[in-house]
Amino acid sequence: MKTRRVEHPFEAAVVAARCGRERGDFGIRLERTHGGGWVADWAFRLPAGLGERERYGSTELRGAISMAEAYPSCPYCRATSIWRCGACERVSCWDGVSEQAKCAHCGVTCKLSGTIDQLRGGADR
Ligand SMILES: [Zn+2]
Ligand SMILES: [Zn+2]
Repeated sequence: MKTRRVEHPFEAAVVAARCGRERGDFGIRLERTHGGGWVADWAFRLPAGLGERERYGSTELRGAISMAEAYPSCPYCRATSIWRCGACERVSCWDGVSEQAKCAHCGVTCKLSGTIDQLRGGADR
């Protein structure tokens, strides 16, 4: 099978995340920006466990991640942003204010700093 090297094979992708307060799974839809980054513009509830079982963990997104003004916030607790755990590299919701947060996946408490520049996701089909 021939493969083509494409840095960003998708124009839109979905990343699985989990709510830090209510532990619900949700998907975040991201669109590629002209600058080669990604902007999160949609979030929707997923049935428990679906995000990891299904396709949403297979692709790596590289580039700066930002939140669109239209991002509807966490579908469970209405947190307006997201963060990625430094230990398990998975995504949880974030209120955009707290300086540290407990990972909804592995339970590790992380000090939040910097920007998200790498995420795993899947194609939005
Ligand atoms: Zn939440
Ligand atoms: Zn974690």
